[in-house]
Amino acid sequence: MNTNKHLKPFLLLALIVVFSSCKSDKNTALVKVVSVNPDYFITDNIIGKITQETVKLDGTPTLCYVFKTNSRPSEHQMGPWCPRHIDDAKDKGGIWFEDGKVYDVDGHFIAELAEFYSDDQWKLFREDGSVKYTATQEECEGAAKPDVEEAYQNYCVECLPKYYKDQITTFTIPVTPVYTNREHRLGRGGLGVAFNGVNFDPPAPTHAILAAHTIAPLDDHGGHVNPHGGYHYHAATGSTKEVGQTDVHASMIGYAIDGFGIYALLDQNKNQPTDLDECGGHEDAIRGYHYHAGEPGGNEIIKCLHGIPGSVHVQE
Ligand SMILES: [Zn+2]
Ligand SMILES: [Zn+2]
Repeated sequence: MNTNKHLKPFLLLALIVVFSSCKSDKNTALVKVVSVNPDYFITDNIIGKITQETVKLDGTPTLCYVFKTNSRPSEHQMGPWCPRHIDDAKDKGGIWFEDGKVYDVDGHFIAELAEFYSDDQWKLFREDGSVKYTATQEECEGAAKPDVEEAYQNYCVECLPKYYKDQITTFTIPVTPVYTNREHRLGRGGLGVAFNGVNFDPPAPTHAILAAHTIAPLDDHGGHVNPHGGYHYHAATGSTKEVGQTDVHASMIGYAIDGFGIYALLDQNKNQPTDLDECGGHEDAIRGYHYHAGEPGGNEIIKCLHGIPGSVHVQE
């Protein structure tokens, strides 16, 4: 009998055990971590005050900043999203994205959707050239969900902020982020927050949207309204408050829900970082571990979280 054959699996197992014990879950010793600065948030957009509370995150009591907002920007208007007529210019509509590219949703874009998606079932306009869009709260709610109602297939979907103006979003973010070696997938709620208190959301579910022959344009600022979250961003387009850096590094645009900073993609010399990890983050001596927002056409502000996430809760 060849003992070597039997030994091999044990050796392999031993190796795995050694490897995984080196790769401990929490690895703050190796990664520089910078605490959240609550002063970066625009005070007028916060309901009440930013408080500190100890909250259980991943089973561990963790000191967090907790604050509420109406998820409404103060630096820019919201909308427009859907143009009203196929002759409308780009100032009457927002943006849409495909394969990493951003497109203006003007009347022409609406008229050419069948060609754009190589699918002749697309027809978001009537014979008189008017665009079929969700014009009421009822229509928006019939269309802005995973199982789009039959009546709203082939619609340009927009929901207005005024339908949900009383919604309150509560953000819970660890005061000092805890870096882990595992990647935390983005939950349904939100992946972070801009300094204006508006939610940075996980990718828009384009599969479900397109399957119903609908589009749900973002405005030029990367945001749109959902019945269950109000106004939120799927793209960082440089429309919101930024905190400039003293070196050439890109400006800061907000915080991820794990407490690590989110920065714009391009630095002062218009260069992109080249060493981002799978989540869109990297580390430097000044900012510690932090993320860079993806390109606006990518439908991903960040791809995952490396820290223990806090939470986003919307009270409808
Ligand atoms: Zn959305
Ligand atoms: Zn960076």
